[in-house]
Amino acid sequence: MTSASKAKIAIAGGGLLGRLLAWRLCQRELDITLFEAGDLSAAGEGACWTAAGMISPLSELAHCDKQVYTQGLKSLELWSEWSRQLEQQSGQQVEYRRAGSILVAHGKDRSELLQFLRELQGKLGESVREQVQPLDSRALANLEPALHSFEQGLYLRGEADIDNQRLLPALLSALRRGGVTLRENSRVSCEVGQISLPPQREQFDCVIDCRGLGAKGQIEGLRGVRGEVMVVESQEVVLQRPVRLLHPRYKLYAVPRSDGRTVIGATEIESEDLSPISVRSSMELSSALYSLNPAFAEARIIETRVNCRPATMDNMPYIHGEDGLIRVNGLYRHGYLLAPAVVAQVENQVAQQLLQVV
Ligand SMILES: Cc1cc2nc3c(=O)[nH]c(=O)nc-3n(C[C@H](O)[C@H](O)[C@H](O)COP(=O)(O)OP(=O)(O)OC[C@H]3O[C@@H](n4cnc5c(N)ncnc54)[C@H](O)[C@@H]3O)c2cc1C
Repeated sequence: MTSASKAKIAIAGGGLLGRLLAWRLCQRELDITLFEAGDLSAAGEGACWTAAGMISPLSELAHCDKQVYTQGLKSLELWSEWSRQLEQQSGQQVEYRRAGSILVAHGKDRSELLQFLRELQGKLGESVREQVQPLDSRALANLEPALHSFEQGLYLRGEADIDNQRLLPALLSALRRGGVTLRENSRVSCEVGQISLPPQREQFDCVIDCRGLGAKGQIEGLRGVRGEVMVVESQEVVLQRPVRLLHPRYKLYAVPRSDGRTVIGATEIESEDLSPISVRSSMELSSALYSLNPAFAEARIIETRVNCRPATMDNMPYIHGEDGLIRVNGLYRHGYLLAPAVVAQVENQVAQQLLQVV
């Protein structure tokens, strides 16, 4: 590359990380090509399409490293800013909502709420009080009328969620407007400064591998963790924000969307099986939903989705850079929670690599 020409960057994988990174980088003086194995306009094999889109650093902290929480807080701030910019640039709504989230447990399981609070206090100390508000039945019914039958809950004020079914198309639209070269139906492999799509090889100043589970074999220990969600539509029950039910066996999250649909899920299975949702999972999710509010019994099941989260052995994000090649992966169940913070880190690495090249 000469300093007069634009640096050529290849991004492999047009899922959450690949799109977000391409969008950020196309706002710089760079020549970006995005390679995607499937069709960018349709829900493809990426876990990003299956996700519920919760951005919940506190809820996740109970069972993950504190670094995920701190990076999650950074992402929350970036999502606020980036979602506004993206809506302006794409002309599409992405429905980033920062209305907090609610945790509830049935009376006999109230120890689950106490245990959750203890875990958070152990990791965050007294600052938990500013972030988590205990709710009695009245406060709960005021905040979330559909949960009127619960006697206690917790309100996690700062948490957010984003509608992935809107975000991903909005990113695509912004990439088109930003002049990114889009190469669909291109299942590539990544090497230093090179993308291979047999029989061809193309040279780039920097290759960024965001292929999720498509990078298996190139990243030691990368594995898939199966998750299942159901999308239901109810005329009777409306939630205002994500709700989690804590239960020793039947956990549930329910994330309402503006179109009256609610995404429900919680399953996490150590398997790379991509077959359809099991009867057992659908029964457990449905009965947990019914226990939130019996009027959910009349909800209609619109869709079920199954996918595998790309995870490393320690379930922490993987960012590895060498000259001409950066691999980013392992966002596990924290893709929406962590992607902006991770992308900001990768943007810096790209900038440093290109300074060395010029
Ligand atoms: C059921 C479920 C619920 C979830 N809920 C949440 C949630 O509420 N909040 C949250 O933060 N996270 C959630 N996640 C996790 C989140 O979806 C993932 O962490 C995130 O999608 C990972 O993003 P990624 O871009 O690394 O990978 P992906 O989203 O999987 O994208 C990878 C892309 O690479 C493409 N690709 C693969 N191989 C190749 C190749 N050889 N060449 C070119 N392209 C290739 C794929 O087609 C795909 O488009 C959930 C995941 C699941 C499965």
